[in-house]
Amino acid sequence: MPQSFEIILRVGCAALVFAAMALWEWFAPRRKLIAGRRPRWPGNLAILAIDIVAVRLLIPTAAVGVALIASAHGWGLYALFGLPGWVAIIAGVIALDLVIYIQHYIFHHVPLLWRLHRMHHADLDIDVTTGVRFHPLEILLSLAIKMAAVIALGVPALAVLIFEVLLNVTSIFNHSNVALPRRLEHVARWIVVTPQMHQVHHSIERGETDSNFGFNLPWWDRLFGTYRAQPAAGEQNMKIGLPIFRDIAELRVVRLLTQPFRNAD
Ligand SMILES: [Zn+2]
Ligand SMILES: [Zn+2]
Repeated sequence: MPQSFEIILRVGCAALVFAAMALWEWFAPRRKLIAGRRPRWPGNLAILAIDIVAVRLLIPTAAVGVALIASAHGWGLYALFGLPGWVAIIAGVIALDLVIYIQHYIFHHVPLLWRLHRMHHADLDIDVTTGVRFHPLEILLSLAIKMAAVIALGVPALAVLIFEVLLNVTSIFNHSNVALPRRLEHVARWIVVTPQMHQVHHSIERGETDSNFGFNLPWWDRLFGTYRAQPAAGEQNMKIGLPIFRDIAELRVVRLLTQPFRNAD
């Protein structure tokens, strides 16, 4: 599988979903934005650009490359059990999703890691650009954890590729400021993390921030007791963000990058 194909697939899928969700939330927003787009989008999109450059420069082989190396050497649990191809691919995607759920939970509960991750939560609204707003150090650390999981489990390269495309696309989808029709949403949240479900995770109330950790599959939260159906203040009235970094100046890219190293506005 040539690396250029992987990049085109990932960028193509993410760009398509980004454009579709941006249009949808433009015409039919779920919530009225508090800070709005103008002060937020330049910083959030600049962070996306920095993340892409950081990953390509520092870890050019990425997780798919590691999967190819692991399979060439017969490393990992899957190789050990000799699972048939399609079973290994489905199991691989689900296993990586569980790893990301656990990682997200840990990033909330270990103070040093929370400093990196809280920049994602400090956004004053959530919309499609919040889905790409992750500190570059968090992105690199998260990629390293994923690569370690790929080697340890021996996840097939195709499963890694599917997972990476899914993770990019669902993150953009479930941060977007759109509302699925209520009845459809109730069914959908058993299959995938919906925007209404992830919104609870961006509540300023710490008990709600520490819930709904899933990105793709909603099952882990229900299984491990971290699921919360609705915010206490209601979907429209709940406050988004963190108690710190509420100044509008904190939305600028330099401030976003330095937030892990500062304690207040
Ligand atoms: Zn979080
Ligand atoms: Zn989020």
